[in-house]
Amino acid sequence: MISEIHVKSILNKKKKRDDWFLDEYTVNAYEGCSMNCIYCYVRGSKYGENMAERLSVKINAPEVLEKQLQFRVKKNQYGIVVLSSATDVYMPIDSKYGMTQKFLLLFLKYKFPVHIITKSDRILNDAEILKQLDADAILPDDLKNTLKRGLIISFSISSLDKSVTDHLEPGAIAPIKRLETMQQLKEKGFLVGVNCLPVLPFISDSSAQIEEMISTSKKYGADYVLVGGLTLFGNEPASSKVLFYKFLEKYHPHLVTQYKSLYRIYPYPPKAYHDNINTIVKKLCEKYEIRNSII
Ligand code: SF4
Repeated sequence: MISEIHVKSILNKKKKRDDWFLDEYTVNAYEGCSMNCIYCYVRGSKYGENMAERLSVKINAPEVLEKQLQFRVKKNQYGIVVLSSATDVYMPIDSKYGMTQKFLLLFLKYKFPVHIITKSDRILNDAEILKQLDADAILPDDLKNTLKRGLIISFSISSLDKSVTDHLEPGAIAPIKRLETMQQLKEKGFLVGVNCLPVLPFISDSSAQIEEMISTSKKYGADYVLVGGLTLFGNEPASSKVLFYKFLEKYHPHLVTQYKSLYRIYPYPPKAYHDNINTIVKKLCEKYEIRNSII
C-alpha cells in the first residue's frame, strides 16, 4: 500500500559537505524503502518490519524541488545532491511514479551535480540523462579541479555472499548483479565505486573478505571503495538492532555473544575496530591501486 503525501520542502541542505559522499544536499522522493535491509538506519516503528508495506511517495516533490533549485541557483549555491539518503531511488515502486527520472531532469536543467547511491540495476534505464548530467553539472569551486565530474555513482555492498545478503537485503538484487551493473556504467564512462557500507562484524569483515571485496570491486571497474562499520540502533520491534539480533540468532547464533561484546556500550563498534578496518583497507587499496575515497 503506497500513501501519497504532500511536502513543503524536499531539498535538504546540510551544515557542511559530507566527507565521504561529498554531498551538500539530500533529497528523498519516498519515505521507507522496499529493499528492506535489516541494518537500515531509517528503520523503526514508523515503517514496521516490512518497509515495503508502508511506503509513501511525496507526490508533489518535483514542483517543490524545482522551486528550491531555482532559489539555490540564484544564490549560486551549487553542491552535490545525494540520491538518496533514506531510501533507494531505484526501488521498484519508482517505475510507477518515475520520481527519480523527474528529479534527474531537474538536476540537469539547473546543472546540479549528483551522487546516486543504489542497490539496483534500474539505474541503467537513465544512462542517457546521467551522461548529460555528468558533463553539464556545475561543481562547487573547490571540487572543479579534483572531482571534475557532475555525477558519482556508488553501489552499496555489505557482503559478496548472496546467502548473507538474501537475508539481510531481501529487496535488493544479488551483489554480483550490482557489480555487473557498475561495470556496464564504467564502460559507458561514468565515475563509479562500491560502498562496502556496512561491512558486517565476523560475517564480512575479515582481512580476506575485505580483500575479496576490494579486488572484486576493482575487477568490475570501481574507481573507489568506501568501507565502514555497522551501526545498530533501537530497542523497538522494527528497529535495526532488534532485527539484526533476530537475524544473528537464526543464521549465526554462535556470533551473538561476540556482537553483544562489540556493541556493549555504543550503537557502533569501538574505535579500535574502525582503526583496524581502516588500516586493512588502506593497505589493500594500495595493493590493488584503487582509491579509498571518491577523490
Ligand atoms: S537500500 Fe538503503 S535506504 Fe533502502 S533499506 Fe537498504 S539501507 Fe535502507
